[in-house]
Amino acid sequence: MDGQQWDRDILVDLFNYRDQQCISNTPFGGNDEEDKLYWREDITGEYTCLPIRTNLYAKRVPVPLICPMCNMEDETVNHVLVNCTFANQCWERRCLYYRASNISSFDLWLMSILDRTSKDGHGEIVTMCGSIWQARNQLVWNNKKSEVNSVVFSTKQYLAEWKMAQGSSTKALYRDVIPGDGASSWVKPKENTVKVSVDAVLFTELSKYGIGLLARDDSGQVIQGRSEVYDGSVRPEIAEAIAVKEALSWIQVRGWKEVVVETDYLMVVQAIRSKVNMKSPFGSIILEYRRMIMGLNIELFFVK
Ligand SMILES: [Zn+2]
Repeated sequence: MDGQQWDRDILVDLFNYRDQQCISNTPFGGNDEEDKLYWREDITGEYTCLPIRTNLYAKRVPVPLICPMCNMEDETVNHVLVNCTFANQCWERRCLYYRASNISSFDLWLMSILDRTSKDGHGEIVTMCGSIWQARNQLVWNNKKSEVNSVVFSTKQYLAEWKMAQGSSTKALYRDVIPGDGASSWVKPKENTVKVSVDAVLFTELSKYGIGLLARDDSGQVIQGRSEVYDGSVRPEIAEAIAVKEALSWIQVRGWKEVVVETDYLMVVQAIRSKVNMKSPFGSIILEYRRMIMGLNIELFFVK
């Protein structure tokens, strides 16, 4: 913010076009009002705070109050993003910051943390909040439990992609995106189609990495899941490429005919769709995927 206006340069630096518009359209309060931080998650832009359960409860929406991540305490913004054991582990994994036991609101916590962090770290803090919130939504809406590792991993990945987008042009980054990409929540596949969600996690300290596959039918019911842990330290894009390739083998073994595969790792989707043959280990996994998929009716999409 710059006086009573949003600082355009900072908005352009930190947010995508849609979010820039949302933020620019957010009016300021009166001069004597204290600044507050809000999350504009709702697509309609109608709500200016997270649809967190205690808020919904206050609006007389009958929902359980308890935090779905730990089932220990009431679900407030401060709890989910900061004080919950799950959030705590996420922050601690990145050696970021401190328990907020004596800080009563999320606004205060965020402001104090941004205050004591270099500007370079701001992106990670904000992105981490988004990733933790997404993990909470995955559990509430899709009944999918997230690992601390995967939250930390997706935060790093998002930031890396964002930095890459700053280096090249955004247009180049999204060049290979096709209709069906970019869904931010799980959508049912077409009739008689199986949808396989793919995820990879790195356990850096243990020199291991894992893949997770989850198949759902067209009604959204989980048909089957599979997870594997492998030895070795690999780069995140390799772990994800292996996960996507393993999904193909799994689909073939299961004999599913109409299948949609989705991953949240854009680089893998781009590499598979492009015609470029890379000589790197990553490239050979991609090549293997392209070879395996020939003749199969499997579509691959990128999801946020
Ligand atoms: Zn909790």
